[in-house]
Amino acid sequence: MTYDVAIVGAGFSAIALTINLLDILPPEATIAVIGDDPGFGRGTVYRTEFYLHRLNVPAARMSIFPDQPDDFTDWLTSRGKAVSPDAFASRGDFGLYLRDRLASRLRAREHRARLDFVRAKAVSCNDGQGDGISFVLDTGGSLRARTVVLALGVGSAGLPVASDRVSAAARGRIIENPWTMGWLSHVGRNNAICVLGSGLTMIDQVLSLRARGHRGQIRALSRRGLVPIPHLDRRSEPVAVDLPDGAELSQVLHALRRSADDVADWRSVIDGLRPKTQALWQGLTMAQRSRFMRHAMAWWNIHRHRIAPDVHRKFQALVADGTVEVEAGFLSGIHDDGDGVRVEYRPRGSQNATTFIADLVVNCTGMEKAGIRHSPLLRTMCDLGLIRIDELGLGIVVDKTSRVLGDTQLQNAGLFAVGALTAGQFWEITAVPDIRVQAKRIAKAISAELHVAEGRATRRA
Ligand SMILES: Cc1cc2nc3c(=O)[nH]c(=O)nc-3n(C[C@H](O)[C@H](O)[C@H](O)COP(=O)(O)OP(=O)(O)OC[C@H]3O[C@@H](n4cnc5c(N)ncnc54)[C@H](O)[C@@H]3O)c2cc1C
Repeated sequence: MTYDVAIVGAGFSAIALTINLLDILPPEATIAVIGDDPGFGRGTVYRTEFYLHRLNVPAARMSIFPDQPDDFTDWLTSRGKAVSPDAFASRGDFGLYLRDRLASRLRAREHRARLDFVRAKAVSCNDGQGDGISFVLDTGGSLRARTVVLALGVGSAGLPVASDRVSAAARGRIIENPWTMGWLSHVGRNNAICVLGSGLTMIDQVLSLRARGHRGQIRALSRRGLVPIPHLDRRSEPVAVDLPDGAELSQVLHALRRSADDVADWRSVIDGLRPKTQALWQGLTMAQRSRFMRHAMAWWNIHRHRIAPDVHRKFQALVADGTVEVEAGFLSGIHDDGDGVRVEYRPRGSQNATTFIADLVVNCTGMEKAGIRHSPLLRTMCDLGLIRIDELGLGIVVDKTSRVLGDTQLQNAGLFAVGALTAGQFWEITAVPDIRVQAKRIAKAISAELHVAEGRATRRA
C-alpha cells in the first residue's frame, strides 16, 4: 500500500506532528511513523528515567500545543506531580506526557486516521518519481508514502578530530554516542573520564556518572570551555527589545547589550527576543550568519539554552571540589596508552600541546548541528537530489513553510522536514516551544493538500 503520510523519526518532532495530524486528517487518511527508537515517542532526550535529567525550559512552555499552554502543567497535576509553571520538571515525565497524549488520540479508533508504527530505521529510498517516495527499512521491508516528513533530530556528529588522529586501539575506549545509556554501567568507580563538549549533554552525563557511584576525575574539553548558565530561581518577565528595521548583526548585539544594562537581569532580554529570533536569522545574509556562528554562537547557546538552577548548583559543586575540570582547548588526537587513552589537545591561548590520560572518552559534542553525515538515509536522499545540504551545514534546505527544496522536482510526492534539520532556515528550531509551532503548521499544510474522495484520501496534484 501507499500511505498518505510517512513520518521518519520517533522523537518529539515526530510525535508532535503525529498528534496534530490525527487531530486534523480525515478517518480515511493513512499515516505511518517509521522510528528505530526503543522509547518510541520520547526520542533521545525524553526517555531518560534519571530525575536529575531535567527540562531546561519551564513547565509552562512545554505543552505540545502552542494554543493550550497549560496542557503539560495540567497533566503533571493530574498525575499528582504539580509544579509551579516556572519549575523545571523531569524529562522522563515529559516523555510520559507525550506518550499519554498520543495514547488518548489512539483510543478514538473509529474517528481518526489509520496510524501504523513501524519499528525500523529507514536506511535508503528511491528517487520519488513514481507514486510517492519508497523507503528501504533495515528490517528488510519497504514502505511508500505520498507525503513524507523527515523528523530525524540531530544524530551523532562524530568526533571533533580527523579520524587518522584517533588510533584504532583507542577506539574501544571512546563512547561515540552517550545516549545509549548502557555505557554507564561499564564505568569503574575511580575511572578518569574525558568528556568532549561542555554543553547540556556533558552536564547530563556528568550527573548520571555521579548518580551511578562514579567518584573519579572528569575533564570536560571544548573549544571555548563555556558551560550553560542557569535560569534564575524566580523567572523574570521577558522584555521586548527595540530593534531597528533591517538591523545589522552588530546592531542587534549592541541593542541586546544596551537593553540588558537597563533591566534587573539579562535573561529577560534574551527571553524577550525569542519571538523575533527566527525572523532576525532570516534577515541576515549568509556571510552574517556564518560570522555569527564563528564568533557568537557558543556565547549565544549558553545564554539562551540555560539549565535548571538546582542542576547547575549540583554541577558547580563538582567543579568547586575539583571532581570536574572544564577546559578550553583544541583536541588534536586520541591514542592508546596501555591501560587507558592519551587525549592530546592544545589549551586555548597556548602554543603547546598537553595531554590527559583517561580510562574513557565520552563524545558529548553532537547536539549543535543536525548535518547529514551521520545518516545513510539523508546521504542517499542527497545523492538522489531529493534534498540539499544548507550552505552552513546546519541541516537541509527548506522554505519558510518547512517544505524541502531539492535538486529534483517531485511529481507526486510532498516532502517536509521538522526540527533541527531545518535550522538553516529557522535557526531556533531545536526546542519544544519552536518545534510544536512548526509541527502544527506542517500538519495544516499536509491536510490542505489531501483530497478525500470516494472514501479514500489522495494527495492533490
Ligand atoms: C541534553 C538535552 C536536553 C534538552 N532539553 C530540552 C528541554 O528541556 N526542552 C526543550 O524544549 N528541548 C530540549 N532539548 C532539545 C531537544 O533536542 C528537543 O526538545 C527534541 O527532543 C527534539 O526532538 P526530535 O524529534 O527533533 O529529535 P530526537 O529526539 O533526536 O529524535 C529523532 C528520532 O529519529 C530517529 N531516527 C533518526 N534517523 C532515523 C531513520 N533513518 N529512521 C528511523 N528513525 C530515525 C532517532 O533514533 C530518534 O529517535 C534538549 C536537548 C538535549 C541534547
